[in-house]
Amino acid sequence: MTTVFPDTVKCAMCGAENEFPVIASTNCFGSSDLDLRPAEMQRSTMCYWVQECPDCGYVSGEVSDPAEITKEFLESDEYVSCDGRKFKSDLAARFYKEYKICTAPASAVKKPSVLDKLFKKKSTDEKLITAFNAILHAAWACDDEQDVENAKYCRDIAVSLISELISDEHNSNKDTFNVIKCDLLRRAGRFEEVRNEYSSVKFDNDLLNKIIAFQIDKAEKQDTDCYTIEDTTSE
Ligand SMILES: [Zn+2]
Repeated sequence: MTTVFPDTVKCAMCGAENEFPVIASTNCFGSSDLDLRPAEMQRSTMCYWVQECPDCGYVSGEVSDPAEITKEFLESDEYVSCDGRKFKSDLAARFYKEYKICTAPASAVKKPSVLDKLFKKKSTDEKLITAFNAILHAAWACDDEQDVENAKYCRDIAVSLISELISDEHNSNKDTFNVIKCDLLRRAGRFEEVRNEYSSVKFDNDLLNKIIAFQIDKAEKQDTDCYTIEDTTSE
């Protein structure tokens, strides 16, 4: 089971102290989805993965995380309105704001203070991975609300970000990212791209090859449904 306790967290942006529920423990039984979304109970803990300060709107895994964003950006229409996307859930909007902060233009990134320099700043790669995870989580939150249009919108962004991660020569998780990208494309209804990009791909790992064959088969059937890793080995 999942246990949660209330924790008082001080916002790194505005200094307000608010109470947030924090996960003490959870469990995960069963196979992950093909985009590595965990099985239950962890699956249902997503609402605790990201915090939003009710006073200033800063969003991060914990609002006490060093804030590298300007106050003006948090007050901007594009941030407040999530680029005008009408998300069906507040949770999807919260993840989308996390993505917005991670990909904010340089003009919206705060110059580090002397104090900030004491903390290790996130590297560009870490920021890109956080941005990718945030938009993927937003897509999952949209899935849960049958918000099909915004789920696709988020997956399209996720495809661009993961493509950047795959093209990074220092990336040691290329194969995993490639397999996740295939699922993002199929679930966004981009069946042509699944066929074109993956028909001739061969990994060293048999399971990954099985997953890709499964994805291509589902793409041929124009199937955008959610499947687990277990599904690919039981058919
Ligand atoms: Zn705040």
